[in-house]
Amino acid sequence: MKKRTTGSLFVLSGPSGAGKGTLRKKMFEKVPGITFSISCTTREPREGEREGIDYHFISADEFHSRLERGEFLENADVHGHLYGTLREDAVRVLNSGSDILLEIDVQGALQVREKMPGSILLFVAPPSFEELEQRLRDRGTESEERLQIRLRNARWEMEKAPLYDYVIINDDIERAAEELEGIILEQRKNREARR
Ligand code: 5GP
Repeated sequence: MKKRTTGSLFVLSGPSGAGKGTLRKKMFEKVPGITFSISCTTREPREGEREGIDYHFISADEFHSRLERGEFLENADVHGHLYGTLREDAVRVLNSGSDILLEIDVQGALQVREKMPGSILLFVAPPSFEELEQRLRDRGTESEERLQIRLRNARWEMEKAPLYDYVIINDDIERAAEELEGIILEQRKNREARR
């Protein structure tokens, strides 16, 4: 019987404001055969966000129950809210032969690397810290206090970039999206070659 190949697991991280959401959406428009992993979070949905598409919005109680039952492949407290990737969902996608992309923070990415050693870690960085601050201010979705928390976390996250397999500088969204696409396609070629 022909052995079905499993997909690759990609992790996309980077400070908020680095543009990883936009980058990811652009890549998904062009690259077939890759699935976005829908995380669980205890934060409130933002305007336009939909349950089961952007996130699974769950209560802190439910999050803790799932955590105790060992359902998360990784989990983290980010900016005061809880986030986690359901292990079963990720494994189901990979076993179906599709690649999967997790858009998660640095703490989570490092847990994934431990648990899934073949995973590929991608870091999206802004061209500069000043640019990042400006983008966050322009977005205007956070209070000053929460913005300061995000900036503090951003500095910490940027320091972790060297731990990743690839660093993509988001100086131009189209160019950065092409780079991301290129990395995913290259990974598939290498996987085929190994087979
Ligand atoms: P936001 O609340 O802006 O959607 O996300 C805040 C941060 O949480 C982002 O850095 C995002 O990548 C991260 N995040 C989203 N889902 C997960 C997850 O399942 N696990 C972890 N560790 N981080 C996540």
